This record gives sequence, structure tokens and C-alpha cells, in this order.
Amino acid sequence: MEIIGVDKHFGPQHVLKNCSLNVAQGETVVLIGPSGSGKSTLLRCINLLEPVQGGSIFFRNKDITHASVEPHKLRQDIGMVFQNYELFSHLTAAENIMLAPMTVLGVSRSEAEAQALELLGKVRIPDKADSFPDELSGGQQQRVAIARALAMKPKLMLFDEPTSALDPEMIREVLDVMTDLSAEGMTSIVVTHEMGFAKRAANQIVFMENGEIIENATGEKFFGGDVSLRAQRFLDQIL
Ligand code: ATP
Ligand code: MG
Repeated sequence: MEIIGVDKHFGPQHVLKNCSLNVAQGETVVLIGPSGSGKSTLLRCINLLEPVQGGSIFFRNKDITHASVEPHKLRQDIGMVFQNYELFSHLTAAENIMLAPMTVLGVSRSEAEAQALELLGKVRIPDKADSFPDELSGGQQQRVAIARALAMKPKLMLFDEPTSALDPEMIREVLDVMTDLSAEGMTSIVVTHEMGFAKRAANQIVFMENGEIIENATGEKFFGGDVSLRAQRFLDQIL
């Protein structure tokens, strides 16, 4: 994915300012920055939940900001996991995962079920297929949400603070699943302030402030202390 000079306004407010970012296939990019810096907005622009007012976003060799691109088609290839996993409460874990493949892709029930069971294994809750969301812990629910996104076989995964609503003991199990995905070469953009995850998984760390991408460094460089003063000041606050 190639984001080139993206501008986004909300009324008079300029929330993304000439943002550019390359995400190579198989890479994990960790996006950090203060509240209100535009991290969520950037993710939302990438899957066309928000229109941009300038610049281009190339995904699979196509400028997705072009009017001819259908957002719902694009989103079949881009999985998104939010802070508040909104699972369907009246469906079991397996049924949550089966729903989109069956209704959107036309996959048969038996095939969707087999895939759901496999994905539940992948997110390390193989025995929770028949549990309803309210019978699962927050960390387990979030892992079902990840499995649900993976069921569409996305080419890109977007995570927006996937662990920030979780109790500390559940954060790790979700980050472990995300680390597995990263190691398997799933292209991902992850908004998180979990710097341990960033250290383990990130190919690039991107620091945003006030709508701008201020810094873009490899994990090695970043954690080696070779960062701008602004990024360092931010890190000092969160670490
Ligand atoms: P946080 O760390 O708190 O999640 P963020 O970096 O994700 O912050 P955004 O949610 O992208 O920040 O918001 C960037 C700016 O855009 C903020 O000033 C916010 O108030 C504004 N904004 C976001 N969504 C909207 C909207 N739908 N309408 C108007 N302004 C918005
Ligand atoms: Mg946000």
C-alpha cells in the first residue's frame, strides 16, 4: 500500500496533512502518536470509511480514492479490528466468523464452519466455537473479532487500538495472536501504544502528531534511540 500526500479535513479542521506512507507486502507498521493526532482517521481513510480531500492511496496497484472504487468491495480485502470488538451477541463465536464468508462470498455453511474452527484454533481458543460473546472474556472476544476479519482472507489488516479496552492480563493474549499474524507475513497497520509488540513485530514505526507523519523509522532505529525530539517526548510520556 502506498499513501501519497493525503489530506483530510473535517470542516475547518485539517486532520491529515500531506501524509505519505509506504507499506510493503508482508510488513507490519505500528502507528503511534498523541490523542487527536489523526491515527484513527488515517485508518478510516484507508478503508474508505472517510473520504480524503487530497492525495492518493494505492492498494494492489489501484488508487482507491478514485470514485469508481466501491467501498464495500474494497473492504472485502481489508480486515479491520477496533478497540470495541462488536461481535453479534445473538451468534456464537463460530457463527460470527462464518457470517461474512457465507453471506458475502457465498461460501457453503460446512466450508465456512470448517474455516471458523480452523481460525479459532489460530487465535488460540479452539474450544470456544459454541460460546456466545457474553460467555467470553474481553480478550477472547477480541480474538474472535480478529478471526472474523481473517475469515474474509484479507490482504491487509487494520487494527485500531485493539487492546486498549482490555484488562492487562488479556492484552498479552491478543498481542500474541497479532504477533503470530505478523510473523506469518500478514500486511498490517496497527495503531497501538504497546511498545513491546512494536519491538517484536514492527517493520516500521510511524509517529504522527497534529495530522502529520513526523517520523518513520525501522524498529531498530527507533528503539535504538535514534528518534526525533518530538517522538522521544511522546515516548517518555507513554513508557
Ligand atoms: P486517539 O488516540 O484519541 O484515538 P487519533 O489519533 O485516533 O486519537 P482521530 O480520531 O483520528 O485521532 O482524530 C483526529 C482529529 O479529527 C481530532 O481532532 C478529532 O476531533 C477529529 N475528528 C475525528 N473524527 C471526526 C469526525 N467524524 N468529525 C469531526 N472531527 C473528527
Ligand atoms: Mg484513535
